[in-house]
Amino acid sequence: MATLDLSQITKRFGKVTAVDDLSVAIENGEFFVILGPSGAGKTTTLKSIAGLVDVDGGSVHIGGVDMTRVEPYHRNVAMAFESYALYPQKTVSENLASPLKSGRTGKYSEAERAERIDQVTTTLGINHLLKRFPRELSNGQRQRVALGRVLVRPADVYLLDEPLSHLDAKLRAAMRAELKQLGAMSNTTTVYVTHDYQEALALGDRIGVLREGRLVQIGTPAELWNRPADTFVARSLGQPEMNLLDGVVDDGVVRLGDGELEVAIPDGLPVSRGDRVRVGMRPCDFHVRGSQVDTSVDVALSGHVVLAERLGRNIELTVDVAGEQLIALTTGRHGVGEGSDAVMSIARSDVHFFAAGDGDTIR
Ligand code: ATP
Repeated sequence: MATLDLSQITKRFGKVTAVDDLSVAIENGEFFVILGPSGAGKTTTLKSIAGLVDVDGGSVHIGGVDMTRVEPYHRNVAMAFESYALYPQKTVSENLASPLKSGRTGKYSEAERAERIDQVTTTLGINHLLKRFPRELSNGQRQRVALGRVLVRPADVYLLDEPLSHLDAKLRAAMRAELKQLGAMSNTTTVYVTHDYQEALALGDRIGVLREGRLVQIGTPAELWNRPADTFVARSLGQPEMNLLDGVVDDGVVRLGDGELEVAIPDGLPVSRGDRVRVGMRPCDFHVRGSQVDTSVDVALSGHVVLAERLGRNIELTVDVAGEQLIALTTGRHGVGEGSDAVMSIARSDVHFFAAGDGDTIR
């Protein structure tokens, strides 16, 4: 168990700055998720913590001890890579036991090894695979065994790089919950990297959103969801992404598009007449009806449905509202289909306001 302090980490590869002045203090036992698109610097951040790359600047402290120049082997960090490396000539059981036999963890008795392996294999749902060889496993099973190899070894910090990426959707969802339990069970500090916002929201005690090597926001899932720092964070969370409409501040409202549409400005929002802003509305926050709504609590936007697509139990509507195309995710119980008129309503409290220039949340 240990705290993990990253202070002003910078890592460059030639002209590319993969990690850029990154700082975060991760608490003892915390499950911290780094969320970011491909190329944002997620893997390089993990490698900086593990000591697998030499950072160009900044420091890594584990349990208060400066590890910046310490060899990977002596950091007591366990890292799982996306590419699942297993010994092909060993069974699953032997693959899981080997990290407990070598090096600094070699002190475990056979009974202790058996107990740790049992704990991990139960959580990962791989008990029935113990006698198999890696070549006899599916990609998803292999990935779970590789994850098991990392988690079985006691470490101060676990670093997990997209560990669920090869699993199918159903297994991913099941594993998410189980992984969280495993983290809590072993009460260890974990940094978990993903580009999947659902995984981040489900697993993270806190999430750091990474963009071009920089952490643009750190917060709990609720904080990030309710108060995204900018349009990048807002669009990183949610699928379909948040609708963003350009507008201009007028008396008490933002006029959108060609000015026909307006959205009331909440009291105290620090904007002035003429300011250019972006208004954000999540597809899942819309209610869609054929008729009018209570505009004292809701913003109502009238439009015309141009596309209705069923996605499992939801229907995704593309609605033309005064020339702007808005996406709404609905249950489909409203009876509004392609070609219909629709009134989309959204609670005023669910409307987000961003500055037009840098996209920062206005607060
Ligand atoms: P992905 O989700 O695609 O794995 P990532 O967020 O993990 O991406 P990194 O692998 O950390 O991103 O890469 C960050 C940037 O650094 C990218 O532009 C990448 O091309 C570059 N990069 C990473 N490793 C090296 C390397 N060894 N040599 C040169 N450039 C590298």
